[in-house]
Amino acid sequence: MAAKGVNSQPAGPALIRHSPFTEEEGLDLRRIIPAWIISGVIHVVLLSAFLLITYTVSAAAPDKVETIVENKIDDDESYRDKNLTNDEIGNDPDLPTNYNLDRIADVSVPGPVNPNENIGILNAPTDAPPQTVPPPPGFGGGQGGGVESDKPGTGALQGFAGGVGGQKLIPGGMGGRSGATREKMLKEGGGNTASEAAVASGLKWLARHQHQDGHWGLQDFPAANKCNCGNTSNHTDDFAGTGFGLLPLLAAGETHRAASKNNIYAKHVDKGLKWLCNKMGADGQMGGGYSHGICTIVLCEAYGLTADPNLKPFAQRAVNKVVDWQGPDGGFRYGPKQDGDLSVAGWHIQGLKSAQMAGLNVPRATIEGVDRFLTKVSADEGSRYGYTDGQNGGNYRLSAVGLLARQYMGWGPRTRGLTKGVEHMQKLPPGPNPRDMYYFYYATQVMHHMASVMPEAWDKWNVPMRDMLIKGQDNGTTADHRDQKGSWDPTGDALGAPLGRLGYTSLCLLTLEVYYRHLPLYRREIGSAKANPEKN
Ligand SMILES: [Zn+2]
Repeated sequence: MAAKGVNSQPAGPALIRHSPFTEEEGLDLRRIIPAWIISGVIHVVLLSAFLLITYTVSAAAPDKVETIVENKIDDDESYRDKNLTNDEIGNDPDLPTNYNLDRIADVSVPGPVNPNENIGILNAPTDAPPQTVPPPPGFGGGQGGGVESDKPGTGALQGFAGGVGGQKLIPGGMGGRSGATREKMLKEGGGNTASEAAVASGLKWLARHQHQDGHWGLQDFPAANKCNCGNTSNHTDDFAGTGFGLLPLLAAGETHRAASKNNIYAKHVDKGLKWLCNKMGADGQMGGGYSHGICTIVLCEAYGLTADPNLKPFAQRAVNKVVDWQGPDGGFRYGPKQDGDLSVAGWHIQGLKSAQMAGLNVPRATIEGVDRFLTKVSADEGSRYGYTDGQNGGNYRLSAVGLLARQYMGWGPRTRGLTKGVEHMQKLPPGPNPRDMYYFYYATQVMHHMASVMPEAWDKWNVPMRDMLIKGQDNGTTADHRDQKGSWDPTGDALGAPLGRLGYTSLCLLTLEVYYRHLPLYRREIGSAKANPEKN
């Protein structure tokens, strides 16, 4: 039953259509048209498009996932590089100017202009389908196409701001996950070649343990790979498993739309996302309290990284369910509308933050509720946090959850509760005691955001954390468990039993990906680490 895969879905009509022009014809056009005419066409189209800006995402939220899926999984090449390669007519800097071409049209620059002539090619059809016109160079992000240029006529007019400065990087955002930015973040943040090798090996292990239908199982992951990897979870939760499987891939910039040849897990992410969307309830729910929070982060991140309009309704529905889930005290628990506990709420709050980063709709009242809840479960000036209240001064693990949530909710790096909370955390630095990856996952993120204000403290935290994870990774040397290579053994961890090898490996990977997964909140832009952090 659960194995009823998306692959078996009948193929629907393709949602994403390419221009009817073949590539060859497109090239011919570009060679034929003089540059000034192209420029004229672009100006006219741009002007009319400015007047007609309407952004239409298909309002009918699709109930089946064929929509996301179509054109993606079965034909690798059909979506690879789609947003980065412009094969439509337009300003292609690689094309030669018309000065060196044989003149076919009888008008060129300079020359007489006939105002009654059709703009474009002589005798060109006037009822050609709408085209997405790429923004001029320097206006878009150098990508040569609008963000959704693969949908004729509905592409966003503006690419990412830049061309000179590159994509604008929002603090706390997801702009650090690809290419050169990732390398820069990695180096500046304190990662190294060994940590990246560990990530690569871990992602490989994850990919191998994904089931054919796209899900990961906390308990049945060895069955997916017909292997004998140990430490299955004592919980069966395919939603949580799939969330844990996808998050480290997304953190490494792997999406269902491979942006470059370095992205080798597009199919895995695609299948995982499809599974989630197919299994999502009509009301947007994906499993219980923990799972729904984790899976909401996944969908928001996948949408935030790709701006895939087909994914948007699913991500927004997941967020709406989080909004609906919120209890009277502003927190989140196992089921909707219950007073919260900070452990479940931690995942939901991360989901809301991912939604904001992705530009999805999060009601102000929900955020205000979260603030109220955090205050309810806090102690000691907001430096400590407890499970459902702040009595007894909270505990170290939930304090890390609470502090990250406070950073997300806007506490500046000089806020008393935060600095005091960080001092508490520094008394429990990475090491064998406590053996608690859940704590380290949260605490490392808190510390990473603080790196610009307390670089030495970050260094002191990061180096042992990083090296402990690198050293602790299974490198496949156990003779009868060679397949465990790339994973981490949860034995002895405070939450090792429920997390199992899959969940534990996921948290280890996310912690090693902290350098580029989120841009530090207290840096206005990349490269300004030491610039006036006090202003926050
Ligand atoms: Zn295995």
